[in-house]
Amino acid sequence: MSNRLPQLIQGEFRQSGTDTWIPVTNPATGEVLCEAPAATADEMERAIAAAKAAFLEWREVPVSERARLMLRYQHLLKERHDDIARVLAKETGKVFADAKGDVWRGIEVVEHAANIASLMMGETVENVARGIDSHSWTQPLGVCAGITPFNFPAMIPLWMFPMAIACGNSFVLKPSEQDPMTPNLLAELFLEAGAPKNLLQVVHGGKTQVDTLLTHPEIKAVSFVGSVPVGQHVYRTATDHLKRAQCFAGAKNHMVVMPDARKDQVLSNLVGSACGAAGQRCMAISVAVFVGESKQWVDELKDQFAAVRPGAWDDDQAAYGPQISAKARERILTLIRQGKEEGATCLLDGSECTVDGLPDGHWVGPTLFTDVTPRMSLYQEEIFGPVLCCLCVDTLDEAIELVNNSPYGNGTSIFTANGAAARKFRHEIEVGQVGINVPIPVPLPFFSFTGWKGSFYGDQHAYGKQAVRFYTETKTVTSRWFDDDIPDATHGGPNMTINLK
Ligand code: NAD
Repeated sequence: MSNRLPQLIQGEFRQSGTDTWIPVTNPATGEVLCEAPAATADEMERAIAAAKAAFLEWREVPVSERARLMLRYQHLLKERHDDIARVLAKETGKVFADAKGDVWRGIEVVEHAANIASLMMGETVENVARGIDSHSWTQPLGVCAGITPFNFPAMIPLWMFPMAIACGNSFVLKPSEQDPMTPNLLAELFLEAGAPKNLLQVVHGGKTQVDTLLTHPEIKAVSFVGSVPVGQHVYRTATDHLKRAQCFAGAKNHMVVMPDARKDQVLSNLVGSACGAAGQRCMAISVAVFVGESKQWVDELKDQFAAVRPGAWDDDQAAYGPQISAKARERILTLIRQGKEEGATCLLDGSECTVDGLPDGHWVGPTLFTDVTPRMSLYQEEIFGPVLCCLCVDTLDEAIELVNNSPYGNGTSIFTANGAAARKFRHEIEVGQVGINVPIPVPLPFFSFTGWKGSFYGDQHAYGKQAVRFYTETKTVTSRWFDDDIPDATHGGPNMTINLK
């Protein structure tokens, strides 16, 4: 097979010696783009050992030099933005503008990582006792690992390795086996930006390779993004092996629509946030909760959904691309069938969707359900397709209760013209990322990506200050100096005491 994807191990892109190769396909055409290896045990061992050796040198590199590497990397990523997006679009099926967005959100994190010096500053307090001062330092952990999903093959690896490496760690990345070409290209550009060899290793594969990272004694911290069952497995296994872990998992995001909201904004934002990227976003809106009279807008929503169509990545008229695989499509169609059997009303069914000239694409058309109840599998399962479930309630309190009863807590939004309603929602909602008249409230990198409940296992989140805490240890030093030639204020100086009565 000619097009076999190499791995970045020990400073070079090398062909794997494995017997197991995983086909990577263009989901719009079925064409095999390349094959990704399932790294052998020896390759995993060599990657981790090389990362460990790199860490011992890298942690001594001044913070401003580490920051400059990120500046060069950011510059190169911007220069090659379109090239990366083209590779990404082919292997994910995302339409080009969306593929560019995936890369851009990653570039913003690299930009943030270039501020690492101020992010790593410790704290100091003078005179914690007479003549004694305390200060804290942030120090890197060692070799960190990242396991990433298929749906953002640029943004999510870039959430992880630039922040970890800027903090002084080295990194082993195991990207999704469904679209590993983009992460390889990101790694190639990292070397081109001047990254010392071995700081970043990229290995490919699936469960076996992930489990090696989760159990290996040299891996100090694990960052994971993916589905709920795998996230739970990763969190349990990594912490059982006494590692730090941050695991971002699945979601079911609700948009609450108040009757005083702007109808045009509600409808266009529902279409974009439910169907964009074929619904394969962890912050996609998959449930619309219409409060009171806003339920009258559902018919118009149906017309707007019906006007949207999927297509190939380079089709300017396409709103979104195919599902990532035949298996993913089949899963969505099963949930649509179950929704109908369980009594939901399907206003628009995208199960039979086809795209001219692309008979082998994994297409699902925009799909709209009403009369959905919280007991239905359609409501309970993460669908991860262009499917919107509509529910109607009478009051804002009922809407809040519905959202808070969901086991997930990644994102939510409210559309309203009433500040008091928005304030109540923002305050009472048990979800980590809240939009007010903003459908997909993904925080920029100077904040952190703060999913809650079943959408996140761990405590420190991705990027922002929380990532720096995740990828570093805090060392607190308390110091006192003695020198008879240098009298200080505590030697013979005032010795005032406080009367605590
Ligand atoms: P996935 O869980 O199938 O795969 C994620 C990673 O885990 C991949 O690298 C894969 O190789 C590996 N993996 C798969 N099965 C494994 C197993 N049994 N043991 C160990 N490792 C395994 O997820 P996916 O389908 O690639 O991505 C979609 C999911 O990711 C959705 O559930 C989505 O909500 C979620 N996601 C969440 C966020 C977030 O921030 N919360 C962001 C993006 C995606």
